[in-house]
Amino acid sequence: MNSSKYLLGYDVGGTKIVASLGTVDGKILGTQRIENKDTYPDVILPMMVETSKKLVNEAGISMQDVRAFGISTPGPADIPNGIMTAPTNQKYWKNVPIRKFLEDNLGIEGFFENDANCGALAEWYYGAGKGCDDFLYLTMSTGIGAGIIAAGKLVRGTGFYGGEAGHFVIEQNGRQCNCGMKGCYEAYCGGRAIAQRIQEELKDQPNHPLIALAGGKLEDIDFVTLEKGVRAGDAYSLAIWDEMSLKNAQAFGAFINIFNPKKLILGTFAWACGDLFMDPIKKYLPQFCWKEMLEQCELVPSALKRDIGAYAGTAAAIYGLREKGEI
Ligand SMILES: [Zn+2]
Repeated sequence: MNSSKYLLGYDVGGTKIVASLGTVDGKILGTQRIENKDTYPDVILPMMVETSKKLVNEAGISMQDVRAFGISTPGPADIPNGIMTAPTNQKYWKNVPIRKFLEDNLGIEGFFENDANCGALAEWYYGAGKGCDDFLYLTMSTGIGAGIIAAGKLVRGTGFYGGEAGHFVIEQNGRQCNCGMKGCYEAYCGGRAIAQRIQEELKDQPNHPLIALAGGKLEDIDFVTLEKGVRAGDAYSLAIWDEMSLKNAQAFGAFINIFNPKKLILGTFAWACGDLFMDPIKKYLPQFCWKEMLEQCELVPSALKRDIGAYAGTAAAIYGLREKGEI
């Protein structure tokens, strides 16, 4: 058995891939970025192999010294078989057997997980979840996904869909969600959904201050524009923010009561907006969960922040090896 401490990791996103070389004890030795917007897999997969060889060479080791690799990808995916079936932001990637390709071309064992699960594993091994065996990591960005660690295990569910926390229905017959259902949590609190909603509601108000904050273009309004509107005291922005905070509290309250976690580790919005994001949620939370469990749960921002991708793949490899009892 290969007992080396080196691991390769890949975070496959819609605009870029971050490849990283790390160690089982939590160090990242190097990262490389591959542009991945509107690409074809038969071009990108060989580039991933070349990039990996470069990372390994630069660290002064050889591929035989690398124990395993891990891949973090957006869904939907065939997790047990390591296949990217139909990633929503990659129109030319269909049924791509990425894990097998890399295993065959690198000659090492690979592991494959969805990106929210990898985010949780990365925070567990390297970030805000260190030493904590009961927590949820929530992506809180364009969309909302969760990686759940319960009693020291990743909760995958029977069909590997566990953690789709952005799509539990929070409002019957509520706002249309991009997933096809109505009233999903993400339809109220995901960055893309909020931007879509604002653009729709302001389309007949060309002089609205939020449009000015987006540089004069309605279609450029995004979550950052909303944050600016809130900080500037714009009444409309404040009302949207308040509704979002209430819905976030409703969702967090459900997670707290269902899992009794020690932590909720919150992604992008929490570390990018700080107290502006956290304080109103904390104000509303007592309405949505029991006091005992609220007292036992700490709300913290991601510690890895924008670098989480560099840790996501190697974290999947560490968890995979641990599950097999190999480390
Ligand atoms: Zn949905």
